[in-house]
Amino acid sequence: MIALHRDEPHILGPLPGPRARAWLARDLPVMSPSYTRMYPLVVRRAKMAMVEDVDGNRFLDFTAGIAVTAAGHGHPEVVAAIRRQAGRLIHMSGTDFYYPPQIRLAERLARLAPGPGPKRVFFTNSGAESVEAALKLARRHTGRPRALAFLGAFHGRTYGAMSLSASRPIQRQGFGPLVPEIHHARYGDLESVRHLLRTTCPPEELAAIFVEPIQGEGGYIVPPDDFLPGLRAICDQAGALLVLDEVQSGLGRTGRMFASEHWGVAGDIVCLAKGIANGLPLGAIVARADLMDWPPGSHASTFGGNPVACASALVTLRLIEARYLANARRRGDQLMAGLRDLAGRHPSIREVRGKGLMVGMEVRATAGEPSFRDRIIDHAFHRGLLLLPCGPSTVRFCPPLCLTRRQVEIGVAIVDAAIGAAEAKIDDRTGGLDGSAPG
Ligand code: PLP
Repeated sequence: MIALHRDEPHILGPLPGPRARAWLARDLPVMSPSYTRMYPLVVRRAKMAMVEDVDGNRFLDFTAGIAVTAAGHGHPEVVAAIRRQAGRLIHMSGTDFYYPPQIRLAERLARLAPGPGPKRVFFTNSGAESVEAALKLARRHTGRPRALAFLGAFHGRTYGAMSLSASRPIQRQGFGPLVPEIHHARYGDLESVRHLLRTTCPPEELAAIFVEPIQGEGGYIVPPDDFLPGLRAICDQAGALLVLDEVQSGLGRTGRMFASEHWGVAGDIVCLAKGIANGLPLGAIVARADLMDWPPGSHASTFGGNPVACASALVTLRLIEARYLANARRRGDQLMAGLRDLAGRHPSIREVRGKGLMVGMEVRATAGEPSFRDRIIDHAFHRGLLLLPCGPSTVRFCPPLCLTRRQVEIGVAIVDAAIGAAEAKIDDRTGGLDGSAPG
């Protein structure tokens, strides 16, 4: 058996291996075809930043299961907390009953969220449910129907969250009609917001602006420094709420507990999920206490704030604050410096951007399938590095926040080799799929 604690990936043979192939054959006829698996990784177990597949191949994970396992896969303290809580109480429903882990976590999140004054917490099971809850609360509290969001945004797959999203047509196609009275401005562009308020969205009808402090699925886009403070001012002037979707950027990922802290901005409602419980399904909205004025029965969830997920979250948040926040900053700086160094040698890298361990590497856009970006990700997989895409031509780096210096070095070296291999493919086939000279 391969030691999972070792930093180096270890690939035993061509991928997928025989056991993985057998599972893929079973998956094909029974699983929904709507999922977006990019490469055939069939996972058996994982520890911290290392993942082992069913054939015993070992991978370095720069995805954290889509930015989720913040403290590392199977962190021993998280596993111990889950075991303890599962032995005590797995479920009772916070909708109708009380239990200490949920109350403790609400107290903790209410203290953590930026901004003055008391906060209240509503628990959900996912990012989309958190955004859905925020939209319902914003409409109900303000008595206003409209919401404003941004082109390139991704807020989730339920109807409200999907209607706020504007990332890719496939996510909306065939699902209409969507939730009405939702407008989209250009991300990072305050004038585009003002233009909508002057032309199509009366400010007195605007309930809330929904924004990702750093755009995630849309391409890991860091906005200009005036953007979030400008949105705060626009909301204050219009009497609208500022809803910060920190589902991906929150809870230490960017080297701050909340990404909005990079710009000193507090939202009226903050949406959380992903990293909060280190892999157990949990989400939350944290809102100014004075605006969480919906009465009993107006919103609830059978599972939201499940005791085991809350116990996991309490330990995860402690680990992030005590250890991984500073590590995310250090390793993020190291990763960005390493990738920028590669950009000096690979002109096909257009930009490296991000904060902490929320890093995007935009590469040359190419026509045809698979794209140059997708080939980089594929070559990395075959060399033992797990990556994900975001936006039209960006490689996304969202590893567990416990990443080590050595793991960053190994990851950057594999990215270097993967780009080289993807570039060689361009040379082989067409001399540049997008018509430009190969980098
Ligand atoms: N909001 C943001 C910013 C996200 O990145 C995501 C998921 O990627 C969501 C919401 C939806 O989260 P979930 O998939 O848990 O519903």
